Amino acid sequence: MQEYIRNLEEWFLENKRVLPWRNDKNPYHVWISEVMLQQTRIEAVISYYERFMRALPDISSLAKVEDDQLLKLWEGLGYYNRARNLKKAAVMIMDEYGGEFPNTYSEIIKLPGIGEYTASAISSICFGERQVTVDGNVMRVFTRFYNDFSNISKDSTRKMIHDRLLSFPFLSPGNFNEGLMELGEVICLPNGIPKCDICPLRGGCLSYKNNNYFMFPVKDEKKVKEEIELTVIVPIWEKKTYVRKRKSPGLLHNLYEFYNVVGNKSADEVCELSKEFGRVKSIKTSICYTHVFSHKKWKMQSYFVFLESVICQDMFFSVSDIEDNFALPTAFSPFFYQFKEELK
Ligand code: SF4
Repeated sequence: MQEYIRNLEEWFLENKRVLPWRNDKNPYHVWISEVMLQQTRIEAVISYYERFMRALPDISSLAKVEDDQLLKLWEGLGYYNRARNLKKAAVMIMDEYGGEFPNTYSEIIKLPGIGEYTASAISSICFGERQVTVDGNVMRVFTRFYNDFSNISKDSTRKMIHDRLLSFPFLSPGNFNEGLMELGEVICLPNGIPKCDICPLRGGCLSYKNNNYFMFPVKDEKKVKEEIELTVIVPIWEKKTYVRKRKSPGLLHNLYEFYNVVGNKSADEVCELSKEFGRVKSIKTSICYTHVFSHKKWKMQSYFVFLESVICQDMFFSVSDIEDNFALPTAFSPFFYQFKEELK
C-alpha cells in the first residue's frame, strides 16, 4: 500500500491543478472553497470564489456582511443555508477565537455548518493534522481500487472507508487528501471511462485488473423527487418588472423570486391574477423550465404580462436594479434572462 500512497502524493504534487485557493494554505480560503465545492464543479466555482474573495477578503468582513449582500454573492450556487452558516461561523471566530481561524479538527468542527468532511479538509490541508476526507470521489476510487461492493450510501461504508484511509501510512495528510479527491475528479472519472493508463494507483487497482470499474461504486437508487407545478408571472411595465423576497422560513427563504402560484394556470387565470399589479394590456406565454432541487422538482410555466399602468410603481425594478441588489436563485434566473431578452 505504501508504494501506491507515495505514487499518489507524488502524482498530486506534479499534476495538481492551479486553483486560486491553492496559492496559500490560508484556512479562510480553503474553507470557502470547500463549501462552494460541495455543490458545484471546480471549473464553475472559480469565478464565484474570486467574486466572493473580492467582496469579503477575510473572516472579519464575512462576519460583518449584510445578509442580502451575502446571498447576492452566493447567487447561483444554491444551498443558501451554507452561506448563512459561513457568516455565523465567521461571527463565532471573531467572538470566540479573536479572529484567528481555529487550528485543530476538534475546534473547527464546532463551527456552524462545518461537518466532518470540511473540518478534516481544513485541518489536514492548512494545519497538517492527520485527518482524512471522504467524499463521493474518494469512495469511488476506494471501492474501485479494492473491488469493494459495499454500498456507499450507507454510513457504515463511509466510516469503514474513513477508518481504512486513516490507517494508511501517508506522509502529508493534505497532499494525500487532495490527491485522492483530485484523482477522483480528473482520472478515476464518475461518468465515462476512467483514465487508468495514467493513474498512479493502477498497479494495485483490482477493478483495473478485472476490467470492471463500471460496477463501482455500489449505491442506492435515487429517490423519485416530488414534482410541483408552478405558474410564474413576469409583469412588464416601462422596462421594469416585479420581484419579491421569499418568506422565511422555507425553501430559498429571503432570496428573491418572480411572482408565482402553485398550479398550471390558464392565460385567463394569469390575467386575473395580474390585476393586482395594474391594468393588463396583453399576455404572452414564455418559457417552461424545470428546476431540480435535492428533494423536489419545480415544473414552471411562465408568462409575460404587459401592463398599461401599475398600482404601485415602487414594486417594479429595472434590470440593473435586480442585477445589483437582489439575489435571484437559479430556479428563477431563466425567467430573468428571458425578461432581458424581451426588452431588447
Ligand atoms: S486504475 Fe483506473 S479504476 Fe483503478 S483507481 Fe485508477 S483510474 Fe480508477
